Amino acid sequence: MTTATTATNATTPTTSTTPSVATTATFTADPAGHRVLTGDRPTGPLHLGHYFGTLHNRVQLQNQGVEMFVVIADYQVITDRDIADRLAEHTENLVLDYLAAGLDPDRATIFAHSAVPVLNQLLLPFLSLVSVAELNRNPTVKDEIAHSRQSAVNGLMFTYPAHQAADILFCKANLVPVGQDQLPHLEVARTIARRFNERYPHADGGTVFPTPRALLSDAPLLLGTDGGKMSKSRGNSVPLGATEDETARIIRGARTDADRRINYDPANRPEVSSLVLLAALCQDRAPEEIAEELGDGGAAALKRTVTDSVNEYLRPLRARRAELAADRGHLRQVLRDGAERANAVADATLDEVRKVMGAI
Ligand code: ATP
Ligand code: MG
Repeated sequence: MTTATTATNATTPTTSTTPSVATTATFTADPAGHRVLTGDRPTGPLHLGHYFGTLHNRVQLQNQGVEMFVVIADYQVITDRDIADRLAEHTENLVLDYLAAGLDPDRATIFAHSAVPVLNQLLLPFLSLVSVAELNRNPTVKDEIAHSRQSAVNGLMFTYPAHQAADILFCKANLVPVGQDQLPHLEVARTIARRFNERYPHADGGTVFPTPRALLSDAPLLLGTDGGKMSKSRGNSVPLGATEDETARIIRGARTDADRRINYDPANRPEVSSLVLLAALCQDRAPEEIAEELGDGGAAALKRTVTDSVNEYLRPLRARRAELAADRGHLRQVLRDGAERANAVADATLDEVRKVMGAI
């Protein structure tokens, strides 16, 4: 862990003209100039969408020396359901998936949202900076409402993007590896950062927050077995921790079409193309090449290739996962250490926020 607390005390230049999506070149050129915040909700086991959507990028960023914070967004589970079911178990299992995928708790600060109270304090000024209309038209909120397990939409759901802004900005993260569904939320975080900086500058004209940018992977929206976004809560995912037989069964059940010719055409054949992409990502090859090889083999051959590629690719991760799973105490210790570090950074940011707001 590097100098998280000191960096938090520094004022940050305004970067409002920076484009909102970064590329890998952005951070490889300057790892020390970047701080990452990413995270997941503890609503179930991580799946291939997470892995190729963000987790793989997180591990790469960490290994390049970019400082990293990973929030397990436990409070945010109750945005779209009445009860946060099996919360402790899901939270520990996320830590397990992170470590198995290569996140190193000595370098990455992994913590639960509920263990850092400052995140909720930041929500008040942040909410005052966005209008109800802006929160209302967020397409991701609409999609999440459509898949919600509640009979009525609760107020927390509409404030979800402002929560995420607090998660990102408490540690002054300027890079956020996410899947495509999170881009509208990140726009809200950028708006909040800009408006906060304009409304509450430091006495010397410096600003409190950076304007964070998204980092998208080569698979920003991996589809699940039903053709919709692969999601933990939609019963359409291939969990990282699944056995090889379970993986084969899940992929066999994936939706495809009747055309025997396999090609890579995400716009017109999204389900088939998503499977081709999955095999390509696992084999580190171009999807067009995989499709060409499969030729007229049909869906059965495609699914066999995908199953073999996924199982082979995940074998080392799954072996590490099984070893790590034997020590639940270690997983809880990772969360305690992470919370301690995150709280120190959060307290320093809140002090600064109170100061510029004249709230001392
Ligand atoms: P839930 O169904 O409970 O919302 P989820 O599977 O959507 O779960 P989240 O915890 O909401 O997972 O998302 C965590 C991160 O993983 C986000 O950055 C999100 O963009 C990314 N992600 C989730 N699903 C996919 C996917 N299918 N493809 C690419 N990235 C994804
Ligand atoms: Mg989600």
